[in-house]
Amino acid sequence: MPEIYRVLLGAYGRQGWWPVTPRGKKRPEYSCPKRPSSRESLEIAVGAILTQNTSWSNVERAVENLNRTGFFCRPFSFPDALLKKTIRPSGYYNQKAVYVRNFLDVVKKDFGGDIKRLFAVEGGRLRRILLDVKGIGPETADSIILYAARKPVFVIDAYTMRIMRRAGLLSGSAGYERARAFFETSLPRSVGIYSEYHALLVRQGKEYCHKKNPLCAACPLFGKSMCPGVRRGQ
Ligand code: SF4
Repeated sequence: MPEIYRVLLGAYGRQGWWPVTPRGKKRPEYSCPKRPSSRESLEIAVGAILTQNTSWSNVERAVENLNRTGFFCRPFSFPDALLKKTIRPSGYYNQKAVYVRNFLDVVKKDFGGDIKRLFAVEGGRLRRILLDVKGIGPETADSIILYAARKPVFVIDAYTMRIMRRAGLLSGSAGYERARAFFETSLPRSVGIYSEYHALLVRQGKEYCHKKNPLCAACPLFGKSMCPGVRRGQ
């Protein structure tokens, strides 16, 4: 496991996740601060909700709209109708606006509107709080915990499952929690490593380990004998 991390890091370099909007700009960039401000933490949490079932480029457009309309300066009083319109590029915008509002309601009602107070909660309890929010599943909750709250939990996504199964490190029947436990017991408990590794696996999935016709011959893991590859058509 640490070997795969090292190979991917050598192949792609640091990914700068989670993309956040730098001060004075409107569009997120890959230069996430190690200690996000309250505004940046909120942007990460909202981005994690918006990225469900869509590509990051669509989320970027939605976050840009949120910046332009001043959402992050007044999230609790931001009108729902405007929120739907603003996040439209991320798809499923009616549903996602409700999910964002559900999350904000928890921050407002249970933590006095202070996202830092929510993120100060111990990791396991924080995870339970987030999973109780309608519209936040394990991948979204863990993305928020890792990148916004900066607590060590490994994020599992479809790319990670595919790569690990093909590399023979996870069985086909392993679900989200088993995969998460596998990473968390195989790696040093580190926010830095978890954040980078997840981003690298996403990059690897996009560049080489495609669902159909993966580019095994050119893949950095195949070249280092860390994955047997997939025969064409499999
Ligand atoms: S060798 Fe092929 S199957 Fe294995 S990780 Fe690389 S692209 Fe994916």
